[in-house]
Amino acid sequence: MTTLRLAIVGAGPAGIYAADILLKAEKQFDVSIDLFEQLPAPYGLVRYGVAPDHPRIKGIINALRDVLDSGKIRLFGNVWFGRDITLDDLKKHYNAVIFSTGSIRDAPLNVPGIELEGSYGAADFVSWYDGHPDFPREWPLDAASVAVIGNGNVALDVARMLAKHADDLLVTEIPDNVYQGLKNSPVTDVHVFGRRGPAQVKFSPLELRELGELRDVDMIVYDEDFDYDEASKTAIASNKQVFVIDKVLNQWRARETGSASRRLHLHFYAAPLEITGVDGKVASIRYERTTPDGEGGVKGTGEIREIEIGALYRAVGYFGSPLDGVPFDEKRGVIPNREGQVIDDDDQQVHGVYATGWIKRGPVGLIGHTKSDAMETIKHVINDQASWWTPASPEEEAIPALLASRGVEFTNLDGWHNLDQHEIALGEPAGRARIKVVARDEMVRASNA
Ligand SMILES: Cc1cc2nc3c(=O)[nH]c(=O)nc-3n(C[C@H](O)[C@H](O)[C@H](O)COP(=O)(O)OP(=O)(O)OC[C@H]3O[C@@H](n4cnc5c(N)ncnc54)[C@H](O)[C@@H]3O)c2cc1C
Repeated sequence: MTTLRLAIVGAGPAGIYAADILLKAEKQFDVSIDLFEQLPAPYGLVRYGVAPDHPRIKGIINALRDVLDSGKIRLFGNVWFGRDITLDDLKKHYNAVIFSTGSIRDAPLNVPGIELEGSYGAADFVSWYDGHPDFPREWPLDAASVAVIGNGNVALDVARMLAKHADDLLVTEIPDNVYQGLKNSPVTDVHVFGRRGPAQVKFSPLELRELGELRDVDMIVYDEDFDYDEASKTAIASNKQVFVIDKVLNQWRARETGSASRRLHLHFYAAPLEITGVDGKVASIRYERTTPDGEGGVKGTGEIREIEIGALYRAVGYFGSPLDGVPFDEKRGVIPNREGQVIDDDDQQVHGVYATGWIKRGPVGLIGHTKSDAMETIKHVINDQASWWTPASPEEEAIPALLASRGVEFTNLDGWHNLDQHEIALGEPAGRARIKVVARDEMVRASNA
C-alpha cells in the first residue's frame, strides 16, 4: 500500500488535530506523520496563550497529548521551519506538508504615540506571563494606572492578569519570575477601552463574568454607556451571548464599590485618539466619546476625554508571520488558501502544500474551531493524492539524520514527557500542579536528559 509521508509544521492544536483527523480518516493509503515545532514543547497557544488561571482550557492539553501518545506521530521539537528545515528539504522527504504555524505577533494599531515607552502589545505580555522562551524574562510593571485597548477576550485576559493579585495566581503554573513581577506591581486602576457599546463587544460571557469574581478588585462600569439604541436593544433581545453580557454588566452597575484596593474600569463608546508622552514615556490616553450611528456601528461625538496612565496595552488582534518559500497574504497575515489548499499569487493551487488553524483562517476563534479547520484541510490532502510530491528520499530515518547533520538539538516526544515530568516535579514542593520552565536551553536540557 502507498504511504503518505506527511510533514506538519506547528504543533499547536491545529497541527495536532490535523494529524489526529488524518489518522482516523478513511483512506486508501498508510500514513507516516512528522510534526515539526520551533519550540521545545508542543501545544502552541494552549501552552503559551491561554491564561494560566484558566486550568480548564489548559486541560485541553491532555486530549492533545493523547493524540501525540498514540504512537503514530513523531515530534521534532526545537526545529524552526525556514532555518533548521526548509521547503526544499520537505519536498525531498515527504509527499505533502501542512502549515499550522498560528500567529504570535500583535496586529498594529495606528494611533499617535503608540510607539512611546510603556506602550506594549498584548501578545508580548501574554508571552511573558505564559513563560514563552523567546521573550524577555523581565516585564516593566511600574504603572499604577494602565490602559488596555480592545474589546475581545485577549483584552480581558490582559486586564485580568494586570488587576489580579499575584498571590491568587500561585495555584497556577506561572513561572516564578512572573509571580515576582506581578507581586511587585503597583497597579491600582486598569482601564479597558472599546470603540463600541456593551452590545457589540467580542467578549465571551464566561470570561467577562470572571472579572467580577476577582478578589479585592472593583468592577467599574459607567451608567452613560447603557443608554442603548434600537440596534443594541435588538442585539440583546435576539442573541443569548449579548443578553448574558448585558446582564453581567448591569449586575455590576448595581454593586457597591469603593472598598477594593484595585479597580477594573470598562469604558465603552471610547475611541482612542492619541497616547501622550512625557520624556518619551506614556503619560495619558486621549479618546473621543462615540455614539451609535443607528446601523450597528458608532460615530464620533467630538467630545474628547483624557485619562492619566503609566502604561498601555493594545489587544487589537494577532497577526501571522510569513514562512520561507510559502505564499503569504501581507494584508491579512495568513497563508492564502482555498479550504486549506495553498494558492499562489495567480490563484493557482500550490501542489503538496496545505494550511490549517490560525495561519489559514486568521487569528479568530477558539481552540475547538481548529478542529473543523483541520477536517476541511485533511479532506483535500486525501483527495489530492494524484498531485502529492514524489520525494526522492522518503525513509523515516532520513529526518533525524538530516537534523543531526545540521547540528539541530531537536527534542522528541519522549523529551516532552521528560520536560513535563520535570515541571510537575518542580511544582510539587510548593503544592503546585507544575511550574513552567522558561529558558529554551533549560527546556532542551530537561527534555534530552
Ligand atoms: C491570549 C490568548 C488566549 C486564548 N485563550 C483561549 C481560551 O481561553 N480558550 C480557547 O478556546 N481559545 C483561546 N485562544 C485561542 C487559541 O489559542 C487558538 O484558537 C489556537 O491556539 C490556534 O491554534 P493554531 O494551532 O492555529 O496556532 P498556535 O496555537 O499558535 O500553534 C502554532 C504553533 O506553530 C509553531 N510555529 C510557528 N512558526 C513556526 C516555524 N517557523 N517552525 C516551526 N514551528 C512554528 C508555534 O511555535 C506554535 O507552537 C486564545 C488565544 C490567545 C492569543
